[in-house]
Amino acid sequence: MDIQANLKEVLTSLPAQVKLVAVSKFHPNESIEQAYRAGQRIFGESKVQELTGKYETLPKDIEWHFIGHLQTNKVKYIAPYIAMIHAVDSYKLLAEIDKQAAKNGRVIPCLLEIHIAQEESKYGFTFQECRKMLEAGEWKNLTHICIAGLMGMATFTEDETEIKREFDSLKRFFNEIKQNYFADRDTFREISMGMSHDYPLAIEAGSTLVRVGSKIFGERIY
Ligand SMILES: *Cc1c(COP(=O)(O)O)cnc(C)c1O
Repeated sequence: MDIQANLKEVLTSLPAQVKLVAVSKFHPNESIEQAYRAGQRIFGESKVQELTGKYETLPKDIEWHFIGHLQTNKVKYIAPYIAMIHAVDSYKLLAEIDKQAAKNGRVIPCLLEIHIAQEESKYGFTFQECRKMLEAGEWKNLTHICIAGLMGMATFTEDETEIKREFDSLKRFFNEIKQNYFADRDTFREISMGMSHDYPLAIEAGSTLVRVGSKIFGERIY
């Protein structure tokens, strides 16, 4: 597995406005160090315990992004250092992140996870739930989080038309939310969508952050 060559290949295919989150979950520190030596600084993890171990042992200028489902009782462990939380799927979680960020004197950028896939199992707000949460307005009192955009995962399928349709729906929803709630806040600007098998489609649809794991680090051994 030539991690540096894989990384380079992915980076070369990204337009200038799209950032890469190298998803290193289930891969050892040595793999992350290889990508780090090639210049990669943004890494994505989805388990709090695993991330904590890596954070403690790897270089401190790594920007760690939490991309998995986050339980409210675990926010406190990552609040001191996490650079972005991608999959916020409830107001309760947002409020807890705000509370823990305040304790650490930080403002944590968060993305709202939107359920765009056909699969039942994926987390996230429906469009309607998200509108309702934003309309309620309580989030405006949370001064230690910053809603930096939206995140979504497409259905795991070979059907590119379906994947494209789902990414387009997230982009359209982003535009709606931007206009209605964040028109005057340029910090609301990220659309986190696209993984190893579908990131070129996500970029076509307007992704600004792609989360690519196996294409860089190889298959994960669970
Ligand atoms: C694991 C994971 C990825 C990366 O998946 P690959 O198919 O390995 O690129 C991206 N996003 C989320 C939310 C993940 O959990």
